[in-house]
Amino acid sequence: MATQSAQEINVQSPVDYRNLDAPIYSWDAIPKCQLGMTGSEATLPEHIAEFQKILRDFAINVARPIGIKLDRMTPEEVIAKDSHYWEFRKKYLELGVTVEALGEMEPQEAALLFSILFEELGYGDAGLAISVGAGILPQWLCAKFGRKDLLEEFPDEVLGCWGITEPDHGSDMLDPSRSVVYPGSSYGRPNLVADLTGDDIILHGQKSAWVSNGVIADVCIIYCAADSGDGPSASDGCALVFPMNLPGISRGKPLDKLGQRALNQGEIFFDNVRIPRKYLLAGPEDYQRAVYCIHAEANALMGATFTGLSQAALDLAIDYAHERVAGGVPIIQHQSVRSRLFHMYRKVEVSRSITRRGLNFNNDPQQGTPSLCTAMFSKTTGTQNAFEVTSDALQIFGGNGLTKEYPLEKMLRDARASLIEDGCNEVLALKGGSYLIDNDKLS
Ligand SMILES: Cc1cc2nc3c(=O)[nH]c(=O)nc-3n(C[C@H](O)[C@H](O)[C@H](O)COP(=O)(O)OP(=O)(O)OC[C@H]3O[C@@H](n4cnc5c(N)ncnc54)[C@H](O)[C@@H]3O)c2cc1C
Repeated sequence: MATQSAQEINVQSPVDYRNLDAPIYSWDAIPKCQLGMTGSEATLPEHIAEFQKILRDFAINVARPIGIKLDRMTPEEVIAKDSHYWEFRKKYLELGVTVEALGEMEPQEAALLFSILFEELGYGDAGLAISVGAGILPQWLCAKFGRKDLLEEFPDEVLGCWGITEPDHGSDMLDPSRSVVYPGSSYGRPNLVADLTGDDIILHGQKSAWVSNGVIADVCIIYCAADSGDGPSASDGCALVFPMNLPGISRGKPLDKLGQRALNQGEIFFDNVRIPRKYLLAGPEDYQRAVYCIHAEANALMGATFTGLSQAALDLAIDYAHERVAGGVPIIQHQSVRSRLFHMYRKVEVSRSITRRGLNFNNDPQQGTPSLCTAMFSKTTGTQNAFEVTSDALQIFGGNGLTKEYPLEKMLRDARASLIEDGCNEVLALKGGSYLIDNDKLS
Protein backbone atom coordinates (compact mmCIF):
# COMPACT_ATOMS: atom_id res chain seq x y z
CA MET A 1 0.00 0.00 0.00
CA ALA A 2 1.32 3.47 -0.87
CA THR A 3 2.33 5.48 2.16
CA GLN A 4 2.87 9.17 2.77
CA SER A 5 5.38 10.74 5.11
CA ALA A 6 4.40 13.18 7.83
CA GLN A 7 5.95 15.94 5.74
CA GLU A 8 3.91 15.05 2.64
CA ILE A 9 0.65 15.22 4.48
CA ASN A 10 1.79 18.34 6.27
CA VAL A 11 0.91 17.38 9.81
CA GLN A 12 3.18 18.15 12.70
CA SER A 13 4.63 15.18 14.54
CA PRO A 14 2.21 14.13 17.23
CA VAL A 15 3.46 13.74 20.76
CA ASP A 16 1.62 11.28 22.92
CA TYR A 17 2.74 12.25 26.41
CA ARG A 18 1.04 9.23 27.88
CA ASN A 19 2.82 6.53 25.92
CA LEU A 20 5.59 7.38 23.50
CA ASP A 21 5.92 3.72 22.49
CA ALA A 22 2.39 3.65 21.14
CA PRO A 23 1.76 6.81 19.12
CA ILE A 24 -1.86 7.65 18.56
CA TYR A 25 -1.43 8.58 14.90
CA SER A 26 -0.41 6.17 12.20
CA TRP A 27 1.66 7.71 9.41
CA ASP A 28 1.10 4.62 7.25
CA ALA A 29 -2.54 5.44 6.63
CA ILE A 30 -3.40 7.54 3.62
CA PRO A 31 -5.47 10.46 4.90
CA LYS A 32 -8.95 10.04 3.55
CA CYS A 33 -12.48 10.21 4.74
CA GLN A 34 -12.83 6.92 6.59
CA LEU A 35 -16.12 7.34 8.32
CA GLY A 36 -18.29 4.41 9.30
CA MET A 37 -21.52 3.22 7.75
CA THR A 38 -23.32 6.02 9.53
CA GLY A 39 -20.72 8.75 9.37
CA SER A 40 -18.65 9.78 12.35
CA GLU A 41 -20.67 7.88 14.94
CA ALA A 42 -18.31 6.19 17.40
CA THR A 43 -18.31 2.38 17.50
CA LEU A 44 -21.77 1.05 18.25
CA PRO A 45 -22.44 -1.83 20.65
CA GLU A 46 -21.82 -5.04 18.71
CA HIS A 47 -25.43 -6.26 18.66
CA ILE A 48 -26.67 -2.87 17.41
CA ALA A 49 -23.95 -2.66 14.73
CA GLU A 50 -24.91 -6.16 13.62
CA PHE A 51 -28.55 -5.22 13.48
CA GLN A 52 -27.73 -2.10 11.51
CA LYS A 53 -25.99 -4.22 8.86
CA ILE A 54 -29.09 -6.39 8.53
CA LEU A 55 -31.21 -3.27 8.17
CA ARG A 56 -28.88 -1.75 5.56
CA ASP A 57 -29.08 -4.95 3.55
CA PHE A 58 -32.88 -4.82 3.84
CA ALA A 59 -32.86 -1.15 2.78
CA ILE A 60 -30.78 -1.74 -0.33
CA ASN A 61 -32.14 -5.10 -1.45
CA VAL A 62 -35.79 -4.94 -0.40
CA ALA A 63 -37.03 -1.44 0.42
CA ARG A 64 -35.30 0.55 -2.33
CA PRO A 65 -36.19 -1.63 -5.35
CA ILE A 66 -39.76 -2.08 -4.13
CA GLY A 67 -40.05 1.65 -3.40
CA ILE A 68 -38.95 2.48 -6.95
CA LYS A 69 -41.53 0.08 -8.42
CA LEU A 70 -44.33 1.47 -6.26
CA ASP A 71 -43.35 5.06 -7.11
CA ARG A 72 -44.30 4.40 -10.74
CA MET A 73 -47.68 2.85 -9.98
CA THR A 74 -51.06 4.42 -9.48
CA PRO A 75 -52.12 4.81 -5.80
CA GLU A 76 -54.70 2.04 -6.43
CA GLU A 77 -52.03 -0.32 -7.79
CA VAL A 78 -49.77 0.42 -4.79
CA ILE A 79 -52.31 -1.11 -2.39
CA ALA A 80 -53.76 -3.83 -4.64
CA LYS A 81 -53.70 -7.34 -3.14
CA ASP A 82 -50.84 -8.49 -5.40
CA SER A 83 -48.80 -5.30 -4.96
CA HIS A 84 -45.12 -5.38 -3.98
CA TYR A 85 -46.15 -3.22 -1.02
CA TRP A 86 -47.38 -6.34 0.77
CA GLU A 87 -44.15 -8.20 -0.07
CA PHE A 88 -42.27 -5.32 1.58
CA ARG A 89 -44.53 -5.47 4.61
CA LYS A 90 -44.11 -9.24 5.00
CA LYS A 91 -40.33 -9.00 4.77
CA TYR A 92 -40.27 -6.08 7.19
CA LEU A 93 -42.24 -8.07 9.76
CA GLU A 94 -39.81 -10.97 9.32
CA LEU A 95 -37.05 -8.69 10.68
CA GLY A 96 -38.77 -9.09 14.06
CA VAL A 97 -38.40 -5.49 15.29
CA THR A 98 -41.37 -5.37 17.62
CA VAL A 99 -42.62 -2.68 19.94
CA GLU A 100 -42.53 -5.31 22.68
CA ALA A 101 -38.84 -6.06 22.01
CA LEU A 102 -37.97 -2.35 22.04
CA GLY A 103 -39.94 -1.96 25.28
CA GLU A 104 -37.80 -4.60 26.98
CA MET A 105 -34.58 -2.70 26.28
CA GLU A 106 -33.06 0.10 28.36
CA PRO A 107 -34.83 3.29 27.22
CA GLN A 108 -31.73 4.96 25.77
CA GLU A 109 -30.63 1.79 24.01
CA ALA A 110 -34.12 1.42 22.56
CA ALA A 111 -33.94 5.07 21.45
CA LEU A 112 -30.69 4.43 19.56
CA LEU A 113 -32.15 1.34 17.92
CA PHE A 114 -35.30 3.26 17.03
CA SER A 115 -33.18 5.94 15.33
CA ILE A 116 -31.10 3.40 13.45
CA LEU A 117 -34.22 1.50 12.37
CA PHE A 118 -35.79 4.57 10.78
CA GLU A 119 -32.50 5.89 9.40
CA GLU A 120 -32.02 2.60 7.59
CA LEU A 121 -35.62 2.34 6.41
CA GLY A 122 -35.29 5.93 5.12
CA TYR A 123 -32.05 4.88 3.43
CA GLY A 124 -34.10 2.36 1.47
CA ASP A 125 -37.31 4.29 0.77
CA ALA A 126 -38.75 7.23 2.71
CA GLY A 127 -42.39 6.49 1.81
CA LEU A 128 -42.12 2.87 2.98
CA ALA A 129 -40.30 4.04 6.13
CA ILE A 130 -43.20 6.34 6.98
CA SER A 131 -45.66 3.55 6.26
CA VAL A 132 -43.82 1.45 8.85
CA GLY A 133 -43.72 4.42 11.25
CA ALA A 134 -47.42 5.21 10.98
CA GLY A 135 -48.02 1.44 11.00
CA ILE A 136 -46.57 1.01 14.50
CA LEU A 137 -47.60 4.37 15.93
CA PRO A 138 -50.79 3.11 17.68
CA GLN A 139 -48.85 0.27 19.32
CA TRP A 140 -45.83 2.46 20.11
CA LEU A 141 -48.02 4.98 21.90
CA CYS A 142 -50.02 2.33 23.73
CA ALA A 143 -46.65 1.14 25.08
CA LYS A 144 -45.56 4.68 25.95
CA PHE A 145 -48.88 5.36 27.72
CA GLY A 146 -48.64 2.04 29.59
CA ARG A 147 -51.67 0.43 27.89
CA LYS A 148 -50.60 -3.23 27.88
CA ASP A 149 -54.18 -4.34 27.28
CA LEU A 150 -54.31 -2.47 23.95
CA LEU A 151 -50.84 -3.64 23.03
CA GLU A 152 -52.02 -7.23 23.45
CA GLU A 153 -55.12 -6.56 21.37
CA PHE A 154 -53.11 -4.91 18.57
CA PRO A 155 -49.80 -6.76 18.06
CA ASP A 156 -47.20 -5.39 15.63
CA GLU A 157 -48.56 -7.27 12.63
CA VAL A 158 -51.73 -5.19 12.81
CA LEU A 159 -51.12 -2.26 10.47
CA GLY A 160 -51.72 1.12 12.07
CA CYS A 161 -52.48 4.66 10.97
CA TRP A 162 -52.53 8.08 12.59
CA GLY A 163 -55.55 10.31 12.05
CA ILE A 164 -54.84 13.89 13.01
CA THR A 165 -55.54 16.38 10.26
CA GLU A 166 -59.00 17.23 8.92
CA PRO A 167 -60.19 18.84 5.70
CA ASP A 168 -60.58 22.20 7.49
CA HIS A 169 -57.75 21.75 10.00
CA GLY A 170 -54.16 21.00 9.01
CA SER A 171 -51.53 22.96 10.90
CA ASP A 172 -53.99 23.89 13.66
CA MET A 173 -54.57 20.22 14.59
CA LEU A 174 -50.91 20.11 15.62
CA ASP A 175 -51.43 23.09 17.88
CA PRO A 176 -54.21 22.30 20.38
CA SER A 177 -52.73 24.79 22.86
CA ARG A 178 -53.19 27.44 20.13
CA SER A 179 -49.75 28.90 20.70
CA VAL A 180 -49.19 29.87 17.04
CA VAL A 181 -52.71 30.96 16.26
CA TYR A 182 -53.40 34.22 14.41
CA PRO A 183 -54.49 36.81 17.05
CA GLY A 184 -58.25 37.11 17.27
CA SER A 185 -58.99 34.15 14.97
CA SER A 186 -61.39 31.37 15.93
CA TYR A 187 -60.84 27.66 15.37
CA GLY A 188 -64.06 27.12 13.49
CA ARG A 189 -65.97 23.88 13.17
CA PRO A 190 -64.10 20.62 13.80
CA ASN A 191 -64.66 17.96 11.10
CA LEU A 192 -64.55 15.07 13.55
CA VAL A 193 -66.10 15.07 17.02
CA ALA A 194 -66.08 12.43 19.75
CA ASP A 195 -69.22 12.54 21.87
CA LEU A 196 -68.05 11.56 25.35
CA THR A 197 -71.39 11.94 27.13
CA GLY A 198 -72.63 8.33 26.95
CA ASP A 199 -71.27 4.93 28.04
CA ASP A 200 -69.68 4.39 24.65
CA ILE A 201 -67.90 7.14 22.72
CA ILE A 202 -69.60 8.16 19.49
CA LEU A 203 -67.36 9.37 16.66
CA HIS A 204 -68.88 11.35 13.83
CA GLY A 205 -67.23 13.16 10.94
CA GLN A 206 -64.01 12.61 9.01
CA LYS A 207 -60.23 12.89 8.87
CA SER A 208 -58.32 14.37 5.94
CA ALA A 209 -57.03 12.58 2.84
CA TRP A 210 -53.53 12.75 4.35
CA VAL A 211 -53.87 9.94 6.88
CA SER A 212 -50.84 7.73 6.19
CA ASN A 213 -51.94 4.08 5.67
CA GLY A 214 -55.49 5.49 6.00
CA VAL A 215 -57.02 3.27 3.30
CA ILE A 216 -55.33 0.04 4.39
CA ALA A 217 -54.83 0.23 8.17
CA ASP A 218 -56.45 -2.17 10.65
CA VAL A 219 -55.96 -0.06 13.77
CA CYS A 220 -55.98 3.69 14.20
CA ILE A 221 -54.73 6.24 16.67
CA ILE A 222 -56.80 9.35 16.35
CA TYR A 223 -57.10 12.65 18.03
CA CYS A 224 -60.03 14.94 17.62
CA ALA A 225 -62.36 17.46 19.24
CA ALA A 226 -64.49 16.14 22.09
CA ASP A 227 -67.96 16.99 23.35
CA SER A 228 -68.21 16.45 27.11
CA GLY A 229 -71.69 17.98 27.26
CA ASP A 230 -70.92 21.65 26.48
CA GLY A 231 -70.47 21.25 22.73
CA PRO A 232 -67.35 20.27 20.76
CA SER A 233 -64.02 21.61 21.99
CA ALA A 234 -60.88 21.30 19.88
CA SER A 235 -58.52 22.19 22.72
CA ASP A 236 -60.14 19.75 25.20
CA GLY A 237 -60.22 16.86 22.74
CA CYS A 238 -59.38 13.19 23.11
CA ALA A 239 -57.01 10.55 21.76
CA LEU A 240 -58.34 7.09 20.90
CA VAL A 241 -56.87 3.80 19.67
CA PHE A 242 -59.40 1.46 18.07
CA PRO A 243 -59.83 -1.22 15.40
CA MET A 244 -60.78 -0.02 11.93
CA ASN A 245 -63.46 -2.68 11.38
CA LEU A 246 -66.04 -1.06 13.67
CA PRO A 247 -69.45 -0.53 12.05
CA GLY A 248 -69.76 2.95 10.49
CA ILE A 249 -66.09 3.39 9.43
CA SER A 250 -65.41 3.82 5.72
CA ARG A 251 -62.43 4.99 3.65
CA GLY A 252 -61.82 7.35 0.79
CA LYS A 253 -59.81 6.85 -2.40
CA PRO A 254 -56.03 6.47 -2.11
CA LEU A 255 -54.38 9.88 -2.62
CA ASP A 256 -52.26 10.61 -5.72
CA LYS A 257 -49.30 12.83 -4.84
CA LEU A 258 -45.83 14.11 -5.77
CA GLY A 259 -43.51 12.21 -3.42
CA GLN A 260 -43.48 9.23 -1.04
CA ARG A 261 -45.82 7.52 -3.49
CA ALA A 262 -45.23 4.12 -1.86
CA LEU A 263 -46.99 5.54 1.20
CA ASN A 264 -50.74 5.04 1.00
CA GLN A 265 -52.85 7.95 2.22
CA GLY A 266 -56.57 8.54 2.32
CA GLU A 267 -59.59 9.88 4.15
CA ILE A 268 -61.42 8.04 6.92
CA PHE A 269 -65.14 8.64 7.47
CA PHE A 270 -67.03 7.99 10.71
CA ASP A 271 -70.78 7.64 10.68
CA ASN A 272 -71.80 7.65 14.34
CA VAL A 273 -69.23 4.99 15.16
CA ARG A 274 -69.65 3.49 18.61
CA ILE A 275 -66.27 3.17 20.34
CA PRO A 276 -66.04 1.23 23.63
CA ARG A 277 -64.43 3.32 26.43
CA LYS A 278 -61.49 0.92 26.77
CA TYR A 279 -60.12 2.47 23.56
CA LEU A 280 -59.75 5.92 25.12
CA LEU A 281 -56.03 6.71 25.39
CA ALA A 282 -56.37 10.26 26.71
CA GLY A 283 -59.47 12.23 27.68
CA PRO A 284 -59.99 16.02 27.61
CA GLU A 285 -58.01 16.57 30.83
CA ASP A 286 -54.92 14.90 29.32
CA TYR A 287 -55.48 15.79 25.68
CA GLN A 288 -52.93 18.57 25.20
CA ARG A 289 -50.24 16.62 27.03
CA ALA A 290 -51.04 13.56 24.91
CA VAL A 291 -50.75 15.47 21.63
CA TYR A 292 -47.51 16.95 22.89
CA CYS A 293 -46.05 13.52 23.73
CA ILE A 294 -47.28 11.88 20.52
CA HIS A 295 -45.62 14.61 18.46
CA ALA A 296 -42.39 14.25 20.39
CA GLU A 297 -42.27 10.62 19.15
CA ALA A 298 -43.45 11.32 15.61
CA ASN A 299 -41.14 14.28 14.97
CA ALA A 300 -38.12 12.24 16.09
CA LEU A 301 -39.14 9.43 13.73
CA MET A 302 -39.22 11.98 10.89
CA GLY A 303 -35.75 13.25 11.80
CA ALA A 304 -34.34 9.71 11.64
CA THR A 305 -36.10 8.73 8.40
CA PHE A 306 -34.92 11.80 6.52
CA THR A 307 -31.40 11.50 7.88
CA GLY A 308 -31.42 8.08 6.20
CA LEU A 309 -32.73 9.48 2.93
CA SER A 310 -30.00 12.17 2.99
CA GLN A 311 -27.32 9.55 3.63
CA ALA A 312 -28.57 7.49 0.68
CA ALA A 313 -28.49 10.49 -1.68
CA LEU A 314 -25.01 11.43 -0.44
CA ASP A 315 -23.66 7.88 -0.95
CA LEU A 316 -25.07 7.74 -4.48
CA ALA A 317 -23.60 11.17 -5.27
CA ILE A 318 -20.14 10.20 -4.00
CA ASP A 319 -20.14 7.02 -6.10
CA TYR A 320 -21.37 8.88 -9.17
CA ALA A 321 -18.76 11.63 -8.74
CA HIS A 322 -16.04 8.96 -8.95
CA GLU A 323 -17.53 7.33 -12.05
CA ARG A 324 -18.72 10.22 -14.19
CA VAL A 325 -16.01 11.76 -16.35
CA ALA A 326 -16.49 15.35 -17.52
CA GLY A 327 -13.76 17.70 -18.70
CA GLY A 328 -11.41 14.72 -18.95
CA VAL A 329 -11.50 13.77 -15.26
CA PRO A 330 -13.90 12.07 -12.84
CA ILE A 331 -16.05 14.95 -11.67
CA ILE A 332 -14.92 14.52 -8.04
CA GLN A 333 -11.64 16.08 -9.23
CA HIS A 334 -13.51 19.34 -9.84
CA GLN A 335 -13.23 21.45 -6.73
CA SER A 336 -16.79 22.73 -6.71
CA VAL A 337 -18.11 19.13 -6.80
CA ARG A 338 -15.93 18.22 -3.83
CA SER A 339 -17.01 21.31 -1.95
CA ARG A 340 -20.66 20.47 -2.63
CA LEU A 341 -20.11 16.91 -1.37
CA PHE A 342 -18.45 18.20 1.77
CA HIS A 343 -21.42 20.39 2.62
CA MET A 344 -23.82 17.53 1.90
CA TYR A 345 -21.79 15.32 4.22
CA ARG A 346 -21.82 18.02 6.89
CA LYS A 347 -25.61 18.29 6.71
CA VAL A 348 -26.13 14.51 6.97
CA GLU A 349 -23.88 14.42 10.02
CA VAL A 350 -25.80 17.30 11.61
CA SER A 351 -29.15 15.59 10.98
CA ARG A 352 -28.01 12.30 12.44
CA SER A 353 -26.33 13.88 15.45
CA ILE A 354 -29.28 16.05 16.38
CA THR A 355 -31.74 13.16 15.93
CA ARG A 356 -29.82 10.61 17.98
CA ARG A 357 -28.95 13.20 20.63
CA GLY A 358 -32.59 14.34 20.86
CA LEU A 359 -33.86 10.77 21.16
CA ASN A 360 -31.25 10.06 23.80
CA PHE A 361 -32.32 13.15 25.73
CA ASN A 362 -36.02 12.37 25.45
CA ASN A 363 -35.48 8.80 26.64
CA ASP A 364 -33.26 9.72 29.55
CA PRO A 365 -34.90 8.08 32.59
CA GLN A 366 -33.96 11.24 34.55
CA GLN A 367 -36.22 13.28 32.26
CA GLY A 368 -39.95 13.36 32.90
CA THR A 369 -41.98 14.48 29.93
CA PRO A 370 -40.07 14.39 26.64
CA SER A 371 -39.16 17.69 25.02
CA LEU A 372 -41.23 18.34 21.91
CA CYS A 373 -38.95 21.27 21.08
CA THR A 374 -36.03 18.80 20.90
CA ALA A 375 -37.96 16.49 18.57
CA MET A 376 -38.85 19.52 16.44
CA PHE A 377 -35.14 20.30 16.05
CA SER A 378 -34.74 16.79 14.60
CA LYS A 379 -37.74 17.02 12.30
CA THR A 380 -37.06 20.47 10.89
CA THR A 381 -33.30 19.91 10.57
CA GLY A 382 -33.56 16.39 9.16
CA THR A 383 -36.17 17.25 6.56
CA GLN A 384 -34.70 20.60 5.49
CA ASN A 385 -31.29 18.96 5.13
CA ALA A 386 -32.84 16.06 3.21
CA PHE A 387 -34.38 18.49 0.76
CA GLU A 388 -31.07 20.32 0.28
CA VAL A 389 -28.93 17.17 0.14
CA THR A 390 -31.17 15.37 -2.38
CA SER A 391 -31.27 18.54 -4.50
CA ASP A 392 -27.46 18.82 -4.40
CA ALA A 393 -27.09 15.11 -5.17
CA LEU A 394 -29.34 15.58 -8.20
CA GLN A 395 -27.13 18.49 -9.31
CA ILE A 396 -24.07 16.23 -9.13
CA PHE A 397 -25.87 13.73 -11.37
CA GLY A 398 -26.38 16.54 -13.91
CA GLY A 399 -29.03 15.81 -16.55
CA ASN A 400 -29.08 12.17 -15.51
CA GLY A 401 -30.39 13.27 -12.13
CA LEU A 402 -33.58 14.49 -13.77
CA THR A 403 -34.37 11.18 -15.46
CA LYS A 404 -36.29 8.25 -14.05
CA GLU A 405 -33.35 5.98 -14.93
CA TYR A 406 -31.62 7.28 -11.81
CA PRO A 407 -33.13 7.41 -8.31
CA LEU A 408 -32.39 11.06 -7.54
CA GLU A 409 -35.51 12.73 -8.90
CA LYS A 410 -37.63 10.39 -6.78
CA MET A 411 -35.55 11.06 -3.68
CA LEU A 412 -35.95 14.80 -4.18
CA ARG A 413 -39.74 14.39 -4.48
CA ASP A 414 -39.78 12.21 -1.37
CA ALA A 415 -37.79 14.82 0.55
CA ARG A 416 -39.97 17.70 -0.65
CA ALA A 417 -43.07 16.14 0.91
CA SER A 418 -41.31 15.91 4.27
CA LEU A 419 -41.21 19.71 4.65
CA ILE A 420 -45.03 19.61 5.00
CA GLU A 421 -45.52 16.17 6.54
CA ASP A 422 -46.01 15.91 10.30
CA GLY A 423 -46.36 19.68 10.54
CA CYS A 424 -45.06 22.30 8.07
CA ASN A 425 -41.55 23.24 9.14
CA GLU A 426 -42.41 26.92 9.45
CA VAL A 427 -45.33 26.13 11.79
CA LEU A 428 -43.13 23.79 13.85
CA ALA A 429 -40.54 26.58 14.18
CA LEU A 430 -43.23 28.98 15.39
CA LYS A 431 -44.51 26.43 17.86
CA GLY A 432 -41.01 25.33 18.94
CA GLY A 433 -40.09 28.98 19.42
CA SER A 434 -43.06 29.44 21.72
CA TYR A 435 -41.53 26.84 24.08
CA LEU A 436 -38.52 29.11 24.45
CA ILE A 437 -40.62 31.82 26.10
CA ASP A 438 -39.81 32.11 29.77
CA ASN A 439 -42.70 33.97 31.36
CA ASP A 440 -40.65 34.73 34.49
CA LYS A 441 -38.25 36.76 32.36
CA LEU A 442 -41.14 38.69 30.86
CA SER A 443 -42.69 39.73 34.16
C1 LIG B 1 -46.38 12.88 3.21
C2 LIG B 1 -47.37 13.35 4.22
C3 LIG B 1 -47.80 12.50 5.23
C4 LIG B 1 -48.78 12.91 6.14
N1 LIG B 1 -49.25 12.01 7.08
C5 LIG B 1 -50.30 12.36 7.84
C6 LIG B 1 -50.90 11.41 8.73
O1 LIG B 1 -50.42 10.28 8.89
N2 LIG B 1 -51.99 11.77 9.41
C7 LIG B 1 -52.57 13.01 9.29
O2 LIG B 1 -53.59 13.27 9.92
N3 LIG B 1 -52.00 13.95 8.49
C8 LIG B 1 -50.89 13.65 7.76
N4 LIG B 1 -50.33 14.59 6.92
C9 LIG B 1 -50.88 15.93 6.90
C10 LIG B 1 -49.92 16.98 7.44
O3 LIG B 1 -49.82 16.85 8.84
C11 LIG B 1 -50.47 18.35 7.01
O4 LIG B 1 -50.38 18.41 5.60
C12 LIG B 1 -49.69 19.47 7.64
O5 LIG B 1 -49.90 19.50 9.03
C13 LIG B 1 -50.10 20.83 7.05
O6 LIG B 1 -51.49 20.99 7.02
P1 LIG B 1 -52.20 21.44 5.65
O7 LIG B 1 -51.70 20.59 4.56
O8 LIG B 1 -53.66 21.47 5.92
O9 LIG B 1 -51.64 22.91 5.41
P2 LIG B 1 -52.24 24.24 6.03
O10 LIG B 1 -52.36 24.12 7.51
O11 LIG B 1 -53.44 24.63 5.25
O12 LIG B 1 -51.07 25.26 5.72
C14 LIG B 1 -50.88 25.81 4.41
C15 LIG B 1 -49.74 26.82 4.46
O13 LIG B 1 -50.04 27.85 5.42
C16 LIG B 1 -49.02 27.93 6.41
N5 LIG B 1 -49.63 28.14 7.74
C17 LIG B 1 -50.71 27.52 8.24
N6 LIG B 1 -50.95 27.92 9.50
C18 LIG B 1 -49.97 28.81 9.82
C19 LIG B 1 -49.64 29.57 10.98
N7 LIG B 1 -50.37 29.50 12.11
N8 LIG B 1 -48.58 30.38 10.92
C20 LIG B 1 -47.82 30.45 9.81
N9 LIG B 1 -48.07 29.76 8.67
C21 LIG B 1 -49.13 28.94 8.68
C22 LIG B 1 -48.32 26.57 6.37
O14 LIG B 1 -46.96 26.68 6.81
C23 LIG B 1 -48.43 26.19 4.91
O15 LIG B 1 -47.34 26.73 4.18
C24 LIG B 1 -49.31 14.22 6.05
C25 LIG B 1 -48.85 15.10 5.06
C26 LIG B 1 -47.89 14.68 4.17
C27 LIG B 1 -47.41 15.64 3.11
